[in-house]
Amino acid sequence: MLNIRALTFNLLQERCYVAWSEAGRCVIADPGCDGPAELQALTDLLAQEGLRPEAILLTHGHFDHISGVKALQDRFGGIPVYMHPADEVVLGYSAEMAGRLGLTPPAVDFKWTPVQDGQVLEVAGMTWEVIATPGHTPGGVCWLAREAGVMLTGDTLFAGSIGRTDFLYSEYDDEIRSIMEKLILLDPDIRILPGHGPTSTIGHERTHNPFLEPFNEPEETPDPDLEPVVIDPHLI
Ligand SMILES: [Zn+2]
Ligand SMILES: [Zn+2]
Repeated sequence: MLNIRALTFNLLQERCYVAWSEAGRCVIADPGCDGPAELQALTDLLAQEGLRPEAILLTHGHFDHISGVKALQDRFGGIPVYMHPADEVVLGYSAEMAGRLGLTPPAVDFKWTPVQDGQVLEVAGMTWEVIATPGHTPGGVCWLAREAGVMLTGDTLFAGSIGRTDFLYSEYDDEIRSIMEKLILLDPDIRILPGHGPTSTIGHERTHNPFLEPFNEPEETPDPDLEPVVIDPHLI
């Protein structure tokens, strides 16, 4: 069984997830904790559940998802941080991006390990698959725990929305392509855990997400036994 707890961090209400399936070991995804109080909230949760993080998974390099990475990596003995290498430029831009919003620039001098599309990571007794979904950032990825039917979608796909593409290094066309080709065709029952806001499922987003509207698939195929509608030509 996969256990997941969410914490909400920083001014942008970023969602950090702690996931575990075996006693005592966990991964942390997108620790955007800003400042000592938020870092404490995260370490309190770990202590409460008796968990020691064995890795940090990043969906992308935006500052609101990485601000706690350096402190956590230092505190937990240099645990690996997994990120797609195409987001190295985004890390470099983090300080400026945070500064524009009047926020403290995050420490980006942590060590990270590159991951690529299709890679399967065995970590802390769990299996996480990397699905590269460039668009919101060039190195954005979703992390899929296929057996548990759970996917961390970062800022690529939200409940009822998609990630912004008006930032430096964002590409709208890539984002739509990533969602339509890589995410929407997955099992409709997969629960998505986005980087902001509430959770949803692939099936719900496939049919209801207004940002995917031109592509929305009908919820069910029409009943073939239904009488076809015939419009009287005199009425047109
Ligand atoms: Zn983002
Ligand atoms: Zn974000």
